[in-house]
Amino acid sequence: MRQWRGLAALGLLAQVAAAPVVTTPAPGPVRVIGSGLGCIAGAVRLPDAAPGLQTVRLGKSTFWGHPEVLANILLLGQRAKAAGLPDLYMGDLSGPRGGPIPGGHASHQRGLDADVYLDVVAPHPVLPLAQRENIEPPSLVRRDGRGIEPTRWRPEHVVLLKLATQLPLVDRVLVNAAIKKQLCDTVTGDRSWLHLVRPWYGHASHMHISFRCPAGQPECKNLPPPPADEDCGANLQWWFTRLDAKPGPTKPESKPPPPPKPPAACAAIMAAP
Ligand SMILES: [Zn+2]
Repeated sequence: MRQWRGLAALGLLAQVAAAPVVTTPAPGPVRVIGSGLGCIAGAVRLPDAAPGLQTVRLGKSTFWGHPEVLANILLLGQRAKAAGLPDLYMGDLSGPRGGPIPGGHASHQRGLDADVYLDVVAPHPVLPLAQRENIEPPSLVRRDGRGIEPTRWRPEHVVLLKLATQLPLVDRVLVNAAIKKQLCDTVTGDRSWLHLVRPWYGHASHMHISFRCPAGQPECKNLPPPPADEDCGANLQWWFTRLDAKPGPTKPESKPPPPPKPPAACAAIMAAP
């Protein structure tokens, strides 16, 4: 998720800027801590190339996660490749120990999230790392936010989104509301996976995959489950009616609330040698 404005209001940007740069995972057994804010010990890093996927924008991104999450992502690459899709471009996962990461993410703190670019049209030969730095797939959403960009939308996007919802540990997949609407309007046959695709801000050129707490992680809390129905009705419509709303009067400047505190156990994980 990218929520610059919300984070700025919470004062989190300053917190991110002040955080020491940690480049190694915390040692010890794997521990996932927190519900949204949080951290991870024993994280592992996604390889820069694996069957069906490549990391991109390495100078701006971070690729650490829970081992089971990485296994799910590697499985997604294999399944995408078997389905004839080009290599998936992988964006941010989490930092080596979780916690806040640059880039305006409000999540990605526990090794349980992954961004995958929705760029499945042209082949993606494996590039040297330096040449992956400036890859910036285009938006799939019209400038007015009310629908997908028809010149860019392909059946392969549906294939990829469905594959993401079928991963063993997936919790939900976040995309722009216009992409969810396109699925609601056009998917035929099996629609049992649509409820796991959730409308969100941004996410016009990438999807965000959230994974559930892996087994044996008592300090990890899951989000409430997504609705069981397709969710193609009033809730989805809200995302478009909000585009019609006129901006209200701006509030007088007030002191932002203090940033939410990460779980106490994360301080030791961040400080571990
Ligand atoms: Zn994300």
